Amino acid sequence: MPSKMHLVADIPAARRICREWQGQGVCVGLVPTMGALHEGHLSLIRAAKGRCQRVAVSIFVNPIQFGPGEDFHRYPRPMERDREVCAAAGADLLFAPRDETMYPGRRLTFVRVEELPGGLCGPFRPGHFDGVATVVAKLFHILPADVAFFGEKDYQQLIVIRQMVKDLDFPIEIVGCPIVREADGLAMSSRNVHLTPEERGRATGLSRALFAAAERAARGERRSEELIRAVRADLVNAGIESLDYVEIVDAETLAPLARLTRPARLCAAARLGQTRLIDNVPLDLPVECG
Ligand code: AMP
Repeated sequence: MPSKMHLVADIPAARRICREWQGQGVCVGLVPTMGALHEGHLSLIRAAKGRCQRVAVSIFVNPIQFGPGEDFHRYPRPMERDREVCAAAGADLLFAPRDETMYPGRRLTFVRVEELPGGLCGPFRPGHFDGVATVVAKLFHILPADVAFFGEKDYQQLIVIRQMVKDLDFPIEIVGCPIVREADGLAMSSRNVHLTPEERGRATGLSRALFAAAERAARGERRSEELIRAVRADLVNAGIESLDYVEIVDAETLAPLARLTRPARLCAAARLGQTRLIDNVPLDLPVECG
């Protein structure tokens, strides 16, 4: 194992290192992130290390996936700390490019992602998934890897990337990793640092409402409408009133599901003050009796 992590900001050097590894016939894993690393990111790096002999991590706050008025400028960027965290986690390469390196000059070419019927985050963040798919496509070219690791925290993003890999024939396997949560259930996110103590207290209501619905589903409730109604009521009771959406979708296609007849995902997005929170839980099919 190499003892030292490569820290690289330019594209040819990053590509050369990954190609060298691939030339040696070892499995290369890639973990794309926007930094401000927490246990959620670390779980991806660990999964990558468990599966691959070499692990590349990227840290890039991708301007083109943020809409006007979103939090691009105030997104946390603790680069020194992130570098240490990556090295301690055993990453072999950290690719941390500047904005001008990723997007020099004018841009004419993007990956465009079709709107989904259910929508989820799509209608609330126009252009977001085009920006995500574009930067991930670039990263797949810059850091040629065998396997890339994404969190289920951003469930729609995971499905969008899986679909892009299929549609555009990227020679890479996509692995989804479970959500890592704080002790009180709040899904870890780099954005949680923006919550005031009062908002942080209320934020736990989001995962609590989703878990309560998942339990009802496991006990046999199959009507999506009823589960969604209960989540909305729980959220209002928890003081979370600014909801973007609560939806139940097919876990593979993200198509809205009226009844739980297939593996499903309950997804929600809410705003607490200046911070937008997203979360989701799997809904297991109820066990049939008799
Ligand atoms: P981000 O830095 O927020 O763009 O996230 C980078 C990767 O880490 C994405 O694949 C996320 O889904 C994943 N991730 C972020 N938060 C979590 C979490 N709490 N648990 C698992 N994965 C996460």
